[in-house]
Amino acid sequence: MYTMSEVTKLPIANPTGNLIAESAPLDETPERASLTVRMVTLVTIIVPLLGVVVAPCLVWGWGFGWTDLGLLLGMYVLSSLGVTAGFHRLFVHRSFEAYMWVKLFGPSSAQWPCRDRCFSGSLCTVAITSTATPLVHHVTWSVNSCHLWGLHPYKSDDQSRNNFVFGILALGEGWHNNHHAFLTSARHGLRWWQIDVSYWVLRTMALLGLAWNAKIPSKQAQEKMSLFKAT
Ligand SMILES: [Zn+2]
Ligand SMILES: [Zn+2]
Repeated sequence: MYTMSEVTKLPIANPTGNLIAESAPLDETPERASLTVRMVTLVTIIVPLLGVVVAPCLVWGWGFGWTDLGLLLGMYVLSSLGVTAGFHRLFVHRSFEAYMWVKLFGPSSAQWPCRDRCFSGSLCTVAITSTATPLVHHVTWSVNSCHLWGLHPYKSDDQSRNNFVFGILALGEGWHNNHHAFLTSARHGLRWWQIDVSYWVLRTMALLGLAWNAKIPSKQAQEKMSLFKAT
């Protein structure tokens, strides 16, 4: 159990955090995927998303309405946050710390397994958000398309890219090159315009004393990893 004095270790930013970027290979990046691979992946990603938009339109008013839309969006955000802030940033990369009871509600959407797992709490969040789970899975797995399209501003030993569309849809996970460059950073959208809803939630949690010791790359660390040097 954490003591109250540790809870007050705010703000969330911790520039001296032990960021994995320090040891990342820097100068070589693998070849980019072929145009065929990129186009096939694009179709695979876009067609199901179009289905999610078109299907409700076709049955609007008698099979789908504002209440359904609100529930779908609410469950989508809630479930996605379990994946992004809970499963990914907290459990996989340990980019911040939180109380055990907070962790219980973190990893939703049935994205097992995880190193700590707390099945009773997780099953609870799955039950609450299960309606949106297929959509959440499609979007979070589509984040891997961020190795195909977007910008690559930071050095990393892969083709990871910052993709604006999935930056929005995946609640911040689409700033994927930022993530690969600074694997343990709690913040993926490192610029003010890189919308990172998951990080906003983490900041709110920090203000409420529910999260602390989050790792954020310092300005120096970001400059060191940047491929766009100021002249
Ligand atoms: Zn990761
Ligand atoms: Zn990746």
